[in-house]
Amino acid sequence: MKDSKLGTNTICTHVGEIKDEQFKGAVSPIYMSTSYEFLDVDLKRYPRYFNTPNQTHLAQKIAALEHTEAALIFSSGMAALSHMFLAFLKSGDHIVLQNTIYGGTLNFVKEEFSKLNIQYTFTDGYEVKDFKNAIQPNTKLIHIETPSNPLLTVTDIKGVASLAKKHNILTSIDNTFASPINQTPMDFGVDIVMHSATKYLGGHSDISAGAIASSQKHIDTIWNTSKNFGGNLSDQTVWLLERSMKTLGLRVKAQTKNALKMAKWLNKQSFVDKVYYPGLKTHPQYKLAKSQMKGFGAMLSFELTKEFESLDFQKKLKLIKSSMSLAGVESTLLSPALTSHSLLTEAERKKTGISDRLIRFSVGIEDIADLKQDILQAVTSK
Ligand SMILES: *Cc1c(COP(=O)(O)O)cnc(C)c1O
Repeated sequence: MKDSKLGTNTICTHVGEIKDEQFKGAVSPIYMSTSYEFLDVDLKRYPRYFNTPNQTHLAQKIAALEHTEAALIFSSGMAALSHMFLAFLKSGDHIVLQNTIYGGTLNFVKEEFSKLNIQYTFTDGYEVKDFKNAIQPNTKLIHIETPSNPLLTVTDIKGVASLAKKHNILTSIDNTFASPINQTPMDFGVDIVMHSATKYLGGHSDISAGAIASSQKHIDTIWNTSKNFGGNLSDQTVWLLERSMKTLGLRVKAQTKNALKMAKWLNKQSFVDKVYYPGLKTHPQYKLAKSQMKGFGAMLSFELTKEFESLDFQKKLKLIKSSMSLAGVESTLLSPALTSHSLLTEAERKKTGISDRLIRFSVGIEDIADLKQDILQAVTSK
């Protein structure tokens, strides 16, 4: 089954499943072969060619969810992202990136692009005009990430995509935070969608994987680069990812619903100074978020009031785990100042609005009363 007009949960459950012709089992078999017969077949299958049965079938599910023609599965989000960049950028080219992007992406750009003579500009802000100002004659790609980490700023996907089209520039988006359940950027004119499948697509904090979804033409271009670099995902893990994605719609909807409730509740608490969540009407880009997201996502941030110290607060939590990653079914949180943004100076953090009391919260599927109770006991216990 391939039809992307199917409902989201049906796509999650069925699209790209491999029929078990031999035993009629209910789920896709795993094909672990790294060697396939080449006689009388058109397709030369090999894991690093990204075309083993499990890889190609799972790619159909991701493409259907992202409303694209094709997709590729990688061993990590960074493998997906780096191959995508290197497929479209060569020496002398220029890329525009949003000023707040995932730390790993930032490191890749800073450490690798200079070696390759690829120029880059980070925008000053999030407005379409900020992207426009950063464009140069040799700009080949604009890369965005919305909602952003950790302050959940929203970038105008359609605005940036149409600006880029006017200048004959490609656009790529890191859609990890929203997931295809809450945001399908292809509908707003973006060319390439990228995911760290380690996050929502996997959803159980036990798989490292990445994905890219795009037109067949762009996927072919990326494939040409990727087959040289490697970075394919083991078929055993591909199978696990397929298994996880069957519940993607259910999980993300439940997490998103919980996040909205938590954001509204936190917003009313005396121990909280500020809540950052695109689903709050007080969020400066609430309307924009509403126009391009189906749900506001399950990531939020909040700032504790001055009486609290973020590490102390986190140590007192009993249910919610302090954890570096995000998007699992279990709620986790972290302090950006101590983790993802610890390499910035205090002045840089201040400038970007990341205070020492800011907490980034990845909301899970637990019962909302238990999450509230855990936070309450942490702020009241001595
Ligand atoms: C985690 C993450 C990545 C990188 O993915 P890995 O699977 O860790 O390589 C990229 N972008 C965002 C937004 C992420 O959260």
